[in-house]
Parts: sequence; structure tokens; C-alpha cells
Amino acid sequence: MVIALRNLDINAQVYEKAHCLRPVGAGLSLLPNGLNSLEVISPGITKTLKSAGSQTHKLNLHKSTGELIGQKSVTLQEKYGQPMLQIRWSQLQDILASQLPPDIIHLDHRCIGFNQNHQGVEVSFDNNTTVKADLLIGADGLNSAVRQTLIGDGEPCYAGRMSWRAVIRYSHPKLLANEVMSMTAPDGKIFGFFDLGSGYVFWSAATLCPEGNISPNPTAIKSRLQEKFADWAEPVQEILQVTNPEDIVERPICDRPPLENWSQSRVTLLGDAAHPMVPLLGQGANTAFEDAWELSQCLRHAVNIETALTNYENSRKPRTQVIQIRNAVQAKRAYEADSETYLSKMMQQAQLSDTEFEQWLYNYQPSVTSHS
Ligand SMILES: Cc1cc2nc3c(=O)[nH]c(=O)nc-3n(C[C@H](O)[C@H](O)[C@H](O)COP(=O)(O)OP(=O)(O)OC[C@H]3O[C@@H](n4cnc5c(N)ncnc54)[C@H](O)[C@@H]3O)c2cc1C
Repeated sequence: MVIALRNLDINAQVYEKAHCLRPVGAGLSLLPNGLNSLEVISPGITKTLKSAGSQTHKLNLHKSTGELIGQKSVTLQEKYGQPMLQIRWSQLQDILASQLPPDIIHLDHRCIGFNQNHQGVEVSFDNNTTVKADLLIGADGLNSAVRQTLIGDGEPCYAGRMSWRAVIRYSHPKLLANEVMSMTAPDGKIFGFFDLGSGYVFWSAATLCPEGNISPNPTAIKSRLQEKFADWAEPVQEILQVTNPEDIVERPICDRPPLENWSQSRVTLLGDAAHPMVPLLGQGANTAFEDAWELSQCLRHAVNIETALTNYENSRKPRTQVIQIRNAVQAKRAYEADSETYLSKMMQQAQLSDTEFEQWLYNYQPSVTSHS
């Protein structure tokens, strides 16, 4: 987002709660819609990303016993002009940060709220500082503090699944370059391995879990995983054995129902703060990149900030709602519906066939037309 804004000569600054820039998400899949958005924000960046990651050409599905169930070629590049790209968060972060002057990223700033009036918005941080600005974009994730001040809809909803992820340097005869191996069991457990190139593998595991309890420390996280996947075939046992407990990210899978509105005067939301989704389709970050481009274009073309935010929200809501609901449907997720009519309308929109949905999702082209 900040790159897109600074390209418009907007003096955008980042306020981040972390003490240092540390990759916490392990690895992720970048998909045609997200890659196309990044490319318009920063021409040439997808070439750099592709040389840093691994383009998936084949998916292999196995039982937990190791038996091969099926294989599928990945032809996104041929169909949509961009691949399925697996990349380490650290590399994505470095590539994006290298496009920004370092002094615009203010670490150790946890936003705790804001006040706004017609003149501007004042943002408060937990280090007793405040910052005045013309516009506040809450890109502060699933537990967004900006969203709490703006909407106040409380905690995210636990989706009944726990997840664990890590990136390690690792090789195994079953894990091939440019391929993804996924293992699954009838009790809902899954374990996936994603080649990231340069000798790195991203693994990701999930189980159904009635409670979204977090383990007390890294050693307990690793023991919990080894217990849950004790009878699974290789390479599960070996990869868990060699993964450093400190590198495992344990997270309850959460989302929220789609919002009716997520902007007010000079404040808006972006990415997970606006439309968090369960990660079945790998779209959380990809849709955040779409948001970033569209918000920058609305700011570029509108007569004032308020109009720009209205245009941004009107443009983004229909698409992100369908993706949120589609993820939820595939995860057999039921919201506590406080607006059943609204949600059932969204459900219908999300009931496209798999092929129709894939085409709609990946054929997304970042718009360069003007919004006024
Ligand atoms: C298991 C799993 C796998 C996933 N796989 C994929 C995938 O393959 N592809 C994909 O596109 N998406 C994937 N996602 C989703 C993706 O990780 C998120 O959708 C994406 O990171 C959202 O980006 P964001 O910038 O909105 O929020 P975040 O990435 O959460 O970033 C928010 C930032 O704000 C900071 N912050 C938070 N609160 C405050 C505060 N109060 N003050 C200041 N700073 C604050 C945080 O430290 C963080 O740096 C996955 C998610 C999970 C759980």
C-alpha cells in the first residue's frame, strides 16, 4: 500500500507494533490476481519475486499413509498469465521494503485508537505518542485496533481449526522442485509441503480442534504436533523432527463475517482488517494487494478523501465478500448470522462452479480507469 501511495507522491508512513521486522508467516502462495496487482503497483516486481520463489507446476495428493491419491498439473501461467508462486514471507517482505526509504517505517508503535474530525485524524499509540494525518489506513490485520475503533465488532470468530507452519532448509526424495505435496486424512487433518526454491521447504499442517488453544511455549507446540501426526508417513515425521520449535508458527484459524461498511470519513481498512478469511484459497494477502492498488487509484482520482474511500469500498466490497464467503463455504464454516438475508445473498454469489470461480478469481485485472 505504502509503495502505491508514495508512487503518487503521497507522504505515507508505516506505524508497526513489532519491535523489529521479523518474518512471522513462514511461506505463502502468490496467485495471478495478487501478482497482477503487485505488478501494477511496482512494475517489474513479479520478475524479482519469481526469481526469489518457486513456481508450482504440479500438486500431489497423498493419504496420511503415504499412498498417492492423485496428481494435478498447475496451469495458471498458461491460463491467466501468472503462476502459482511459493515464496518465503521474509523474501516478500525484503523485496517490498527495499522499495521504501527505511525512515518511513516506525517500529514499536502499537495503535490503540484514533480520533477524527473534518480537519484530520489523530492516531494514538501505546508508547504515548500521537500522529496527525489526513488519512488513516488500518492495515493491522485480523485483530485490527483501527477496526475496533471504527466498527467495534470484537474478537474474530474461531473457525474450528488450528494451524502450524514453518520454513526450513530441507530435502527429501518425495519433495520435488516446483511441486506441492499435500497429505490428508478422513479426520480433517492435513499436512502440506511447498517447494520454495533454493533448498527451502514451507510446511503447513492443520487439524480440526474444538478449542483454539495456543500452546504455552515452542517446545509444547512441537510436542503437540508430533503427537497429533504421530502415525503419519514420511516425510511428516522427519520434517517435524528437524524443524526448530522456535520456527513453528501456531495459529487458530479465524475469520469474520463480511462487513456492510469499512470506511468512515478519513479512516478505512485494508486486507485482513477489512475482510479476514479462512486461508483455504490462499487469498488473504493476494486480496490485500488488490485493495492496495484500488485504494491508491481511488485516492488518485477522487475529488477528496471521503469520496475516494467511498469509491474504494464500493469497488472492493462485492469481490472480497464473495471470496470471504467462498472460503467459508469450502471450510464448512457457519457464521453466527446476525443478518441472514445478507449472508444468504452472499452465499448465492459464492455458489459459482469451481471453474467459473477460478476464472473470475484469477482473471482479475487491476483497473486503471478513473474513479471520481
Ligand atoms: C495458515 C495460513 C496460511 C495462509 N496462506 C496464505 C497464502 O498462501 N496466500 C495468501 O494470500 N494468504 C494466506 N494467508 C492469509 C494471509 O497471511 C493474510 O491474509 C495476510 O497476511 C493479511 O495481510 P494484512 O497485511 O492485512 O495483515 P497482516 O499480515 O496480519 O499484517 C498486519 C500488520 O499489522 C501489524 N499490527 C497489528 N496490530 C497492530 C497495531 N495495533 N498497531 C500497529 N501495528 C499492528 C502486525 O504486526 C502486522 O505487521 C494465510 C493465513 C494463514 C493463517
